[in-house]
Amino acid sequence: MFHTARTTLRRALAGLLCAALLFAPMTFAGAETAGYVYDPNAALAYAANHWNDGVGQCAAFVAACVTAGGIPSTSPSVYGLYRHLLPYGTPYLLTPSNGRYYINGTVNAGKVAPGDPLFFVCETCGNTYIHAALCSSIDSDGLHDYAHNNPHNNKIVYEDLKHYSHPQPSHKVVLYALHMSCEAPTVDPAGMGTATLSWDAVTGAESYCVKVFPAGNNAPLLTEDRISVTSCTLTLPAGAYTAEITANGVTAAATQTKSFTVTAAPITEESSGSDTPLVDEETAATFIRLCVQVFTFLINLVMRFIRSR
Ligand SMILES: [Zn+2]
Repeated sequence: MFHTARTTLRRALAGLLCAALLFAPMTFAGAETAGYVYDPNAALAYAANHWNDGVGQCAAFVAACVTAGGIPSTSPSVYGLYRHLLPYGTPYLLTPSNGRYYINGTVNAGKVAPGDPLFFVCETCGNTYIHAALCSSIDSDGLHDYAHNNPHNNKIVYEDLKHYSHPQPSHKVVLYALHMSCEAPTVDPAGMGTATLSWDAVTGAESYCVKVFPAGNNAPLLTEDRISVTSCTLTLPAGAYTAEITANGVTAAATQTKSFTVTAAPITEESSGSDTPLVDEETAATFIRLCVQVFTFLINLVMRFIRSR
C-alpha cells in the first residue's frame, strides 16, 4: 500500500518534470512567432452572417471576414487590403471560360478555394484594384461570392465581373484570387527589404507603370502606376523578382523588363517595434535552466522526505 503510493508520487513528479521541460521552451517559442493562421471556415461563417449587415464597403467587409478567419485586417482600400494579405497567400489570375466573365472551378483548380479573398482588377486602367469579395463556394455553375456593395449571398461571380466592367464594358476587368495558406506565413515584416529600380525615359511618356512579379509567378505581386519619374523604391519580402515597366501615354508599346533581388533588411530596434519578442533567447534559456534546477531540487527534497518515512 505504502509502496504503491510512493511509486505513484514518483511517477507524478517525473511527469511534472517532463511537462516542465516540454512546455517551458514552447512558451518562449510562441512569444517569438507573430504568424497568424487562417481558418477559411471561420471567415465563411462570418460572411454568411454579415453579407447584408451594411457595415462597411466591399474591402471593409472582406477585411472583417478575414479577421474572423484569424488574420487581423483593416482596409484602407481594396489595394491596401490586397497588399496587407499578400504574405498570407498566393495570388492567382483566374482564367475565364466561355467569354470574359465565367470562372470555372475545374479550370482554376488549386488557384481558389472557399474563404479566399477575390480582387477585381481593371487592366484597362493600369491594373486598378476596383472591388473585393470573398469566395463563398465553387460548384458546377462556377465561382460564387459573398460581398458588400452590392450585397451578395453566395452569388455567382459571373454577374460581378460584368457589373464591374469599369466604367464601360470596353474595360477589361480580371479576377485575382488570393489563395490563402492555412499555415503560418514564412514572411513577416522583419523579412522585408527595399530595392530601387530605375529605367530609361521614354519620349512622350506621361508616366510609368511598374508591375513586380515574384520569380516564376505570372501574377503581379504589386503594381505602382502613374509614376512621374524614372525610378522608384519598393518595399518587398526578400526574394527574386522581375519588374515590367510600361510607359503610359505613348501609342507604341514601350515596356522594359528588369530582374532584381531584395535582401531582408537587418532587424533594428525601430523596425521590430511592438513585434519584438518580450523575452530574448538567451534570457529564455537562462530561465529554463533555472526552472530545471529548482524542479530538480524540489524533487530531491520530496524523494528524501519519502525515503525518510
Ligand atoms: Zn477601368
